[in-house]
Amino acid sequence: MPGDKPKFYLTTPIYYTTTVIADAIRRYKRMRGYEVVMTTGTDEHGVNVERAAQKAGIPESEYVAKMAVAWKALWDELGISADEFVRTTDIRHVRTVQWLFKLFRENGYVYKGNYTGQYCIYDNAFVNDAKPGDNCPDCGRPTETITEENFYFKLSAFQQPLLDFYKKNPTFIQPETRKNEIISFVEGGLKDLSITRTTLRWGIPVPGEDPHVFYVWFDALTAYLSAVGGPEYEKRGFWPCDLHLVGKDIIRFHAVYWPAFLMAAMLPVPKQVWAHGWFLMDASKMSKSKGNVVLPRPIANMLGMDAMRYFLMREVVFGQDGNFSYDALVTRYNSDLANGLGNLASRTAAMIEKSFGGKIPKPGPRLPQDEALAKAASETIGEALDRFEKFEFARSLEAIWAAIAAADKYLTSEQPWAMGDSEADMQRKSTILWTSAELLRVVTVLAHPVLPDSTAKVWTLLGQPGRISAVELDGLRWGQLVAGVQLGKTQTLFPRVDKQEAIERIEAMANEELNPTQPPAPAAPAPAATAGGAAAAPAPEKIGIEDFTKVEMRVGQIKTAERIVGADKLLKLTVDIGTEIRQICAGIAQFYEPEKLIGRKVAVVVNLAPRKLRGVESNGMIVAASVGPEGRPVLAGFPDEDVEIGARLK
Ligand SMILES: [Zn+2]
Repeated sequence: MPGDKPKFYLTTPIYYTTTVIADAIRRYKRMRGYEVVMTTGTDEHGVNVERAAQKAGIPESEYVAKMAVAWKALWDELGISADEFVRTTDIRHVRTVQWLFKLFRENGYVYKGNYTGQYCIYDNAFVNDAKPGDNCPDCGRPTETITEENFYFKLSAFQQPLLDFYKKNPTFIQPETRKNEIISFVEGGLKDLSITRTTLRWGIPVPGEDPHVFYVWFDALTAYLSAVGGPEYEKRGFWPCDLHLVGKDIIRFHAVYWPAFLMAAMLPVPKQVWAHGWFLMDASKMSKSKGNVVLPRPIANMLGMDAMRYFLMREVVFGQDGNFSYDALVTRYNSDLANGLGNLASRTAAMIEKSFGGKIPKPGPRLPQDEALAKAASETIGEALDRFEKFEFARSLEAIWAAIAAADKYLTSEQPWAMGDSEADMQRKSTILWTSAELLRVVTVLAHPVLPDSTAKVWTLLGQPGRISAVELDGLRWGQLVAGVQLGKTQTLFPRVDKQEAIERIEAMANEELNPTQPPAPAAPAPAATAGGAAAAPAPEKIGIEDFTKVEMRVGQIKTAERIVGADKLLKLTVDIGTEIRQICAGIAQFYEPEKLIGRKVAVVVNLAPRKLRGVESNGMIVAASVGPEGRPVLAGFPDEDVEIGARLK
């Protein structure tokens, strides 16, 4: 009965690295028989959102709705399926925040006080850490000292309760280094925390206390509780949370403030907070402003999302910082995925196809080397699960890939491809190929939480029944592979790539995403927005007619159109603009069939400097409308009039 399953609740902020890890844990826990809820979401209040919306010239509500759509689209592309996606503007969340505050008040943990700080009147925001006389770091203008009335949370009352709690729950904060850091912070004394603002407009109102709104951090943390029922959390049975995955920069909020808030409301405190480290590029933290951010989309386009997931979880010891380089990523892809899992799957299937008509053979008597591989695989099951349970993902994958390497070695020394058709040879071949296929089945199941797409393909290839995600890890044993089962369709798993070429392609795509030159391509959200930290959109400025006339647009006619390998959004077009034929790339491949474009008249910006898009030269730009929240491109055209090719648009 589904109701009898143990429950597991985990949450992640909106960094994609943590979300990838959370998604793997979610799949893993499901396969171990848990009913799992995973929550992610968007923090939609605060001064950053207010400002970004203003810059974009749209209401905050519209801005945050777009942001949520963009994030959801990214999760879809990355194969991540959260069970709950909380937007902090949701009414269920607003109710939970207000309810929690009411509990604080009833229990005597809030009071009104004054907050004094440096304020920028142009940006309508306090400048944290600024002293009188300092200028605003955002706009450079002088700040003013302002005092506003705030509600304060009595965090100071929780110093001892928190220290006692950490002592009683030694695994609450992980990894250990973070725990020591937090304990010394709390031992150093806790100051009361301002949790409302009166200078901010875009926030959740404090009931009956106009113009107070809740400060973003208090608002954002509460989302974890609103996702699973808020005031009615007991009905759903997922609170307290089993695991909050967080970036190490926000551990204080999760390991100090959040448990104190819950204690003040007399609600159960989460079981564990796990802080993960950063991927380091050139030994500095990834950040968009430094331009060293690793974007997931270009990698997914080139190598598949499973490759990105595998790399993240294989290369980094969870909780520590890891080094990221495209070189290491592509090297791992070729060695572990293409030559490892992919090669074992394709050669095992090909030999079964050739010698046994695609039916899994019945194994004959087993020799010591067959027994040895069986024993190694059985041990791998225990080791991989044990490591995964402790969130030692790299170790778990290491164990699984050691089994793949052992199978490769086994095949290389047994050489089933060199055997003939004699009865003895066929019997021996049956044993070898059954053993190889069984090992493949075992490692495929074990790797499923990390490689959801490709393992599902191997499952189909092996002709296995049902969905791989429904396999129970606790029931996984060596020897369950049924002989006589017909293999499924051949699958493309991990095509080997040329390293240099792959890196160039990924870099070109990343560069294009960070510095978009093609308006029709849907904008990607910032990869590492934190609470209240929305990406700023560029400000629309008015231009004079002299600026407009600088843009030379002409009617062009599409002569040829083709797809570009490795760039699924781009089409390569040749366009007649009257005076010459131009090669132009357009980000319309997902919405227009190349064949249907030939002969079509379009509006072309002809005096745009030539540039390369994913390595392909583009000389000009096709004008398209961007429609709907996903920015679907619709080509501008001339359906009613017979316009001359090369005519100027004014
Ligand atoms: Zn300012």
